[in-house]
Amino acid sequence: MTAHRISAPVLIPSRRSFLSLAGAAARGSIVAPALVGCVAGGMQSWRKGNPFSLGVASGAPTPDGFVLWTRLVPDPLSADPAMPGGMRGGPVPVAYEIAEDEAMTRLVRKGVAIADPHYAYSVHEEVRGLAPGRPYWYRFISGEAVSRIGRAMTAPATGAPLAGLRLAYASCANYEQGYYAAYHHLAEEHPDLVIFLGDYIYESVDTKHPTVRRHKDGMEAKTLAQYRDRYTQYKLDENLQRVHAVAPSLVTWDDHEVQNDYSDKWSKTFDDPAKFLARRAAAYQAFYEHMPVRPLLSKPHGASMRIYERYAFGDLAEISLIDGRQYRSREACYGPPKKGGGHLETNASCPERLAAARSMLGEAQEAWLYDGLANSKARWNIIAQDVLMAQFGHKDETGHIAYWTEDWNGYPANRSRLMKHIHEARVANAVVIGGDSHCFWTNDLKLDFDNERSPTVATEIVGTSISSRPPVYELFAKALPDNPHVRFFESRKRGYVLIEVDAQHMTTKFQAISDVRDPDAQLSTLKTFVVESGRAGAIEG
Ligand code: FE
Ligand code: CA
Repeated sequence: MTAHRISAPVLIPSRRSFLSLAGAAARGSIVAPALVGCVAGGMQSWRKGNPFSLGVASGAPTPDGFVLWTRLVPDPLSADPAMPGGMRGGPVPVAYEIAEDEAMTRLVRKGVAIADPHYAYSVHEEVRGLAPGRPYWYRFISGEAVSRIGRAMTAPATGAPLAGLRLAYASCANYEQGYYAAYHHLAEEHPDLVIFLGDYIYESVDTKHPTVRRHKDGMEAKTLAQYRDRYTQYKLDENLQRVHAVAPSLVTWDDHEVQNDYSDKWSKTFDDPAKFLARRAAAYQAFYEHMPVRPLLSKPHGASMRIYERYAFGDLAEISLIDGRQYRSREACYGPPKKGGGHLETNASCPERLAAARSMLGEAQEAWLYDGLANSKARWNIIAQDVLMAQFGHKDETGHIAYWTEDWNGYPANRSRLMKHIHEARVANAVVIGGDSHCFWTNDLKLDFDNERSPTVATEIVGTSISSRPPVYELFAKALPDNPHVRFFESRKRGYVLIEVDAQHMTTKFQAISDVRDPDAQLSTLKTFVVESGRAGAIEG
C-alpha cells in the first residue's frame, strides 16, 4: 500500500473557498457538487502539521457502500482541551476520492465530507451507490495535505455466491504493556475484513507492572478530553494505522473503552449511576469520534450509542456484531467494598448469578439477535462479541465450582437462551468469536454445559490480546480437566486470529508473536483449528 504523507505542509488558505464551503457546511453539511472542484487545494484551518496524522479507516461494508473515517489532527499532542488535535472554529470541509485501483487513477467518486467540530473534527462519510463485492481505494484531501490511501470494500450482494472470506480479529491492545508487532503482522495478512472486539484503548494507567511505553497523561481517562487523548495516542501508532488502511473494519467495544469491568450504568468503583453515565457518555463519544462507524446508526445520544448491527457477505457469512456492555444486567452480587469488578462465585455464594431475568445483551438486543439468527440464510453465522462465552469453572479449596462474574459465566441464563435458540432454530454453523481474556481458547458451546453428552450447538474461538498482560497460565490450566468442552487454552502468547471461510470449512489460525516487548517481534502460527460445515466444534487441523 502506498502511503501519501505530507509531514508539514505549508498551506495558503484560499479565502474564497473557505467562506463558501464553511457556509455550506453550517447550513446542513450538504455541499453542492459544484463546490467540489474548488476544495482540493482549497481550505484549511490549521497553520502547520499533518492534519491526517491519525491515518484513515473504512468500515461497516454493505453491498453498495461503506463508511470512510478520518479526523483532522494537525497537532496530535496538543494539550489544550479547547483545541482538540490543534483544531478550532467551525465545520471544515474535507474532500475525498474513491477509486477502483490502488494507484487512484480510475476515480469513481469525488465528494466533500465535513469534519465536525462537535466530534473533534472527525469525518464519518457514509458512501452509497457503489458496485457490490469489490475493493475500492480512497483518500482525503484538505488544502495541500493528502492522506494516505486506504483500502475499503463493498460486501457482495446479499445471497450472491461468495467462494471465500478472510477475516482477522483483534482485541486488548494495552499501549503501555507492549508494542504493536501483532498489529504489524495482522496488516501484512491483508485480510478482507478486520474485526475489533474491544479494549481498543485502555482508560487505566498501569502502575504495578513493567511497561514498554506510557500513556502520556499518566492519568486514568474520565473526561472527554482524556478519552480523546487516549485514542489519539493509540492511533498515532503506525502499525495500528496500517491495519485500518489495509482493510475495512467492524468495531465493537468491551469495558476498557470506558472503565474496567463496568456494566451498563454500574461502575466498578460504585460511582453514583447518574455520574457514571456522564463519564460513559464522554467515553462513547470519543469512541464514535475515532471509529469508522455509521453516523446514522451510531451517532451517540447522551450516554446511549448503538453499535450492534448485522453484516452479510453474500451467501457465505453473516456477522452479528454484538454490544456486550451497554445493556447488560448489573454484575451478580455487586456491592462494596470489593464486589465491583469481576469476582469468582459459587452457586451457594451468589444465587443471584443464576437468575433467569439476567441478560448480557439486554432484552432488545437479545430479541434482535435471535430474529437475525433464525432468519439468516448464510452458510456461516458468526457472532462477534467481547467476552468468553463458554462455561468455565474453577474448583475452590472446598471442591465447589466457582465462576467468573464478568464474562458470560455471570449471565448463564442468557447463555442458555442463546444456546437453546441456536439449537431449536437450527442456525447454520454458529461460531462465536471473542476477546477480553487475553488468552486463546477453542471451545465447544454446549446446549447444557453441565452434561458432557449434551449436544455441541456452536463453536467458540477466542483470540488472545494484541499486547495486554495475560492471566497466570497455571491457574487456568489446572481447571481444564473440569471443563472438557474447552478444546484448547493458551494464555502465554500475544497475537490475533485469522479466519478463512469457504462453503465447506472454517479454518482458524492462532497467530502469535515472539515477544510483546520487541517492536520487531516475529510471527508464527501457534495452532490451526478447522470447523467443518454442518458439524459444530473445532478440530485441530
Ligand atoms: Fe483486555
Ligand atoms: Ca476487557
